[in-house]
Amino acid sequence: MIKVMVINAGSSSLKFKLYDMPEEMVVCSGIAERIGHLDGIFRMNFKDQKSKEILPIKDHAEAVHLLLKSLLDKRIIKSLDEIKATGHRVVQGGKYFSHSVIFDEDAEMKIESLISLSPLHNGANLVGFRAFQSTLPNVLAVATFDTAFHRTMEDQDSVFPIPYDYTIKHDIRRYGAHGTSHQYLALEALKHLDNPEHSKIISCHIGSGSSITAIKDLKCVATSMGLTPLGGIMMGTRTGDLDPSVMKYCCYKEDKTAEEMFQIFNKESGLLGVSGVSNDSRDVLNAMQKGNERAILAYKLFVRRIADFIGQYFVRLGGVDAIVFSAGIGENSPETRQMIIDEIKEALKIEIDEEKNKLIRGKEALISTQNSAIKVIVIPTDEEIMIARDTYDLLIKNK
Ligand code: ADP
Repeated sequence: MIKVMVINAGSSSLKFKLYDMPEEMVVCSGIAERIGHLDGIFRMNFKDQKSKEILPIKDHAEAVHLLLKSLLDKRIIKSLDEIKATGHRVVQGGKYFSHSVIFDEDAEMKIESLISLSPLHNGANLVGFRAFQSTLPNVLAVATFDTAFHRTMEDQDSVFPIPYDYTIKHDIRRYGAHGTSHQYLALEALKHLDNPEHSKIISCHIGSGSSITAIKDLKCVATSMGLTPLGGIMMGTRTGDLDPSVMKYCCYKEDKTAEEMFQIFNKESGLLGVSGVSNDSRDVLNAMQKGNERAILAYKLFVRRIADFIGQYFVRLGGVDAIVFSAGIGENSPETRQMIIDEIKEALKIEIDEEKNKLIRGKEALISTQNSAIKVIVIPTDEEIMIARDTYDLLIKNK
């Protein structure tokens, strides 16, 4: 058994999952949160114990020290040498990466060059990698990109209709996101299909950030997020796709700069902006059930945009074998799934078992009936296992 550590570093957090590979057994998992604060939080789940400490966590390097010390103190590992490889989630791989790579100097340079495209994420992903590298310099690492799975899109699906020299000069394209999740969902969905050699799948990763992907024979042909995660369907706080003149007109009317409005479109729009209630779908659904009109509008808009993308991708794929629901909302909200299905069932000849749907939260299940032309499947996503697999394959199995 080989221990592989998977890391997902955000600007003030560091999530981790330690695996025994190739068995794909989770040894422990957890998160350091509020990094940079005096009241940082360090949580770890190991076997059936859950621990939580509140303590100052100065920076990501300190979070890594804390993690390694906990592994030793709790005797999860006897020595740091047991960790043979680390796998790091990187959000933006731009034009450079169409699969996971060994995290060498060249990869580091390219990831750094993409920070302007993904300022919130790539910087933090690099900080997490460097924190590990400085603490465990002899342990090799792999970078897995949220965008890599989407690199198989044709130009017609990824080029924006702006002046073409902008596209070329600045590499402006639809890169998408959540690719690791969509790839995992497609692989899992295959287990439910009768002819897995040829598959047409629409995966709906619907959480705070949401995206929809059309996948043919396990390759992405179209995805809803754009140059950045702001594009596509409406989300918790993001607008999703807009007529660009909305940006200009809002700036003019509200006397704000493009940068200010960009922040508002990212952080104060979507379910939160329309409902005025919350970015959390549960709060909006509650308010909707109490008759709050803006909450009703927000949710109807949210559902309609998802349905529109499913319709578009049905055409793009020339039919669909399975529609997959995943992530916070897709896995846990039967009401949302039902509302989406209600929008598309007539056109796509879908029938779900409504009683079964109500019972499914956070577990894999087929919720369509035998009569349905398309299978509808709920699948909890697992991006970490994809990172662990790629890390093991690149650094250990194929070495
Ligand atoms: P992200 O990873 O993008 O931060 P998640 O995939 O965790 O987001 O999804 C968060 C969303 O999932 C929130 O809108 C939350 O309301 C929703 N969610 C989580 N659990 C449930 C639940 N049990 N029922 C309904 N919605 C849920």
